[in-house]
Amino acid sequence: MGYDLVIKGGRIYDGSGMPSYLSDIAVQNGRIVEIGRIQNGAARTIDAGGLAVAPGFVDHHTHMDAQIFWDPYATSEPQHGVTSIVMGNCGLTLAPAKPSDHDALVKSFVRVEAMPRSVLEAGVPWGWESFGEYLDALEGKVGVNVGGLVGHIAVRQYVMGEESVERAATTKEVEQMKRLVREAMESGALGFSTNRNERHMREDLKPVGSRLADDDELFALCQVLSELNSGVIETILGRNKIEHFKFYDRLARATGRPVLWQSLQHRWVEPNLWREQLDAVAPIFADGYQAYGLSHTVPLVRHFTLKNCQVFDEFPVWKALMFLPVEARREAFKDPATRQKMRADLADPRPVNFHRNWNVLKVEKPAKAENRKYAGKSIAELASMRGQDPLDAFLDLALEEDLDTVFWNANNGGDADAMGEILRSPYVLMGTSDAGAHVQFGADFGYGTTLLGLWVRERQLLTLEHAIHKLTFHVASIFGLQDRGLLRPGYAADIAIFDPKTVNAHEPEWAEDYPGKTKRLIQRSEGMHYTIVNGRPIYEDGRLTGDLPGRILRGSAHRDRHAAAA
Ligand SMILES: [Zn+2]
Repeated sequence: MGYDLVIKGGRIYDGSGMPSYLSDIAVQNGRIVEIGRIQNGAARTIDAGGLAVAPGFVDHHTHMDAQIFWDPYATSEPQHGVTSIVMGNCGLTLAPAKPSDHDALVKSFVRVEAMPRSVLEAGVPWGWESFGEYLDALEGKVGVNVGGLVGHIAVRQYVMGEESVERAATTKEVEQMKRLVREAMESGALGFSTNRNERHMREDLKPVGSRLADDDELFALCQVLSELNSGVIETILGRNKIEHFKFYDRLARATGRPVLWQSLQHRWVEPNLWREQLDAVAPIFADGYQAYGLSHTVPLVRHFTLKNCQVFDEFPVWKALMFLPVEARREAFKDPATRQKMRADLADPRPVNFHRNWNVLKVEKPAKAENRKYAGKSIAELASMRGQDPLDAFLDLALEEDLDTVFWNANNGGDADAMGEILRSPYVLMGTSDAGAHVQFGADFGYGTTLLGLWVRERQLLTLEHAIHKLTFHVASIFGLQDRGLLRPGYAADIAIFDPKTVNAHEPEWAEDYPGKTKRLIQRSEGMHYTIVNGRPIYEDGRLTGDLPGRILRGSAHRDRHAAAA
């Protein structure tokens, strides 16, 4: 008998973390059917000699809720071996939603996830009300597999309207929210997400609704997942504090569900916090509960101009300036008294994410030819080249270029020892790509290819087997994707084929592929030869194939309900 597809002669990294081995893989009807020395012919054969063959990666932290409608591949995910994405993180979803809620949800996405309003208005084909109808609207139209969490912000808005950003909920309202969460889970949500980040507000500067929920409300909603015995609870509490672990502990114990918390990383301003976090989470796991920390593999780079900038939002004087119309902002930047206030604001010693280090912040791309000599220089270097104070040099260069100078910042990135311990920890969930969000500030689609290129091949902080496990089976297990994340007969044929000698992520680059030709950052890769979804290649030899084999990944509450009905 002939198979649909045979992948010949590759080295299999099966996702379990077991040693890799040389073998062929046969695929029939979207599933892996045989692994070994395959004799039968196939409609198509891929020669994988010299290449690694792994399960497709699962990008569990995206905000592709809107983009997936106009971009069924969720680009640049396939370019990096990603075959499944999860949307609806950080409390933000586009469902459930009544027509009267649409603008409120757009307001949250515009500000929290920094997505241009014009893009959301042009690109989101509203037409659903329930979470299930939202998933149904995508069925059959996607290139990658797509799953979603249901977001607290949408649930609260649906029940309370604009009062959701004003006050606590009544007992009756919490009951209504519980019904919505149950409905969403039963129609296929992979879990529930919430957001208590004190910096997360809407476009109109009102807090996102979930921030007004007390513990009683939040625990009641999470209890629905416990009752259904399904799904993950994804949280963002804001600035990382060790006290948060009491909360994660209570939530994990109360529900028995995996709790995901943001985030764990090496940061220059708090270089030991990651170790304290790993120490704090260990007792929760020791007691048999799960509370996974989300981590980045990519230094969190932000590319910005002073026309469009969130880097300084932690500093009230700076933030107020960034909200001024551009002309008024320009005048303010020229004013010595304003600069004095900006300087004092930066010097305030309260804890923030920004490192306050002019050696880290860089000029990425000057707008004018005569300033090209500054490209790649830190602001400290710029200041000494110009014989100025750093703040003055930073603002004057931007003013000379009509605020079009592109700057570069990274608040984390880590020393290799710290990164090694973080990447290897079983309590750490790899990847916070935030794909689909902050689309004009950065692009981390390549968290997986960066892990394989930078941290495995160049720095040798973990084995390729271990890294593949962290990108695939580890994630699929936590999210309950029961037939994905491993290369085994019977499993879905989601497969990434790459060259371990060259695989890596490129620097992000600009594209004009959003609705209305709006600019955003995309990211290409090196060494990723094939990305195969349900047995069909969606990316090969550097281009997308046009095929749409993706499925909607629905959680076990949905599967169980259907099994019971059958
Ligand atoms: Zn997020």
